[in-house]
Amino acid sequence: MKKIQMVDLIGQYKHIKPQINNAFTSILDTAYYIGGPKVKEFQTDLEKYLDIKHVIPCANGTDALQIAMMGLGLKPGDEVITVDFTFAATVEVIALLNLTPVLVDVEEATFNMDIEALKKAITPRTKAIVPVHLFGQCANMEAILTIAKQYNLFVIEDNAQAIGADYTFSNGTKKKAGTMGNVGTTSFFPSKNLGCYGDGGAIFTNDNNLAHIIRGIVNHGMYKRYYHDVVGVNSRLDSLQAAVLQIKLPLLDSYCEARQEAAKFYSDAFADCHKIEIPKISDFTTHVFHQYTLKTNNIDRNALHQHLLDNGIPNAIYYPVPLHSQKAYTNTRYDENDFKVTNKLIQTVISLPMHTELNKEQQQFIVDTVLKFCN
Ligand SMILES: *Cc1c(COP(=O)(O)O)cnc(C)c1O
Repeated sequence: MKKIQMVDLIGQYKHIKPQINNAFTSILDTAYYIGGPKVKEFQTDLEKYLDIKHVIPCANGTDALQIAMMGLGLKPGDEVITVDFTFAATVEVIALLNLTPVLVDVEEATFNMDIEALKKAITPRTKAIVPVHLFGQCANMEAILTIAKQYNLFVIEDNAQAIGADYTFSNGTKKKAGTMGNVGTTSFFPSKNLGCYGDGGAIFTNDNNLAHIIRGIVNHGMYKRYYHDVVGVNSRLDSLQAAVLQIKLPLLDSYCEARQEAAKFYSDAFADCHKIEIPKISDFTTHVFHQYTLKTNNIDRNALHQHLLDNGIPNAIYYPVPLHSQKAYTNTRYDENDFKVTNKLIQTVISLPMHTELNKEQQQFIVDTVLKFCN
């Protein structure tokens, strides 16, 4: 059996090697390393795919979040609500901009923002909500957008993990993950569902004015060459990365399907096992399985983690520490009782290998090895 990996970027590259190598050669031959036609072409392709007016490429997903918040004009002291159970980038940029992060708990079933916790966290200083579409499925955007409208708050979707997922509103309207709020952000880090071969990110919006502001911010606050109207940053997607993304974007739906098939195989196999709980998919969203995350039930999660490692199966704990307990982000405003779900999840979650290249033999071995531990 081929060695199992958490993600298999080399296996995926092999299927597109000629296109990638040709694209790289033509960029090297023209020395269009920064800017050039590829970035613009990819931008346009992604705008079409997402059905959104503006995609602004940038250097990574963390920058994308920071720039989105700068573009919205958030000011020091403004409170920004996000989730306790996610990667730290989301809360990091809030703190970097001297905004006040307000962490809220997540739903146990979906790992996404808990709507009651969100409502409870709103104060007169709240200015924005940052839902994270964790592990590949959307948060309850209909509820979040309704609350945002009621309290006049911005919504920034952190879509680093769910690019390609579809959301269906109760009136039947469908939208792509990341295109529902005022602004959406994503990451093209190599292991993300749409990953390049280095760092990359993008910001999405349908708001013409916001798009204009953001295009200046990513380029040192310049709207006219050498005239700096606002304090900006330097955050660019380079041409080599744009070329990779342009080749991979038409394959994104098939990549999502490969992940969904592997997830279905896992979930079917685990359905009757009471010691582990399979991921639940909300009915308003598709799930593109950036991660396939189980919850253990009255068994030792850490022992399962070690059992899988002992059998050559990589696996990971996303995330082992709640953000409210991280040294950088502790705050006396928090009450442990407000994070009951996250505090439990960090003890019970375990993510299995999930990527586009998992073959049936590997999937079967993973399933058998998990079940052997549980029986
Ligand atoms: C990966 C990730 C980011 C950061 O993306 P980078 O490109 O690594 O900066 C932000 N938020 C979430 C939820 C992520 O998974």
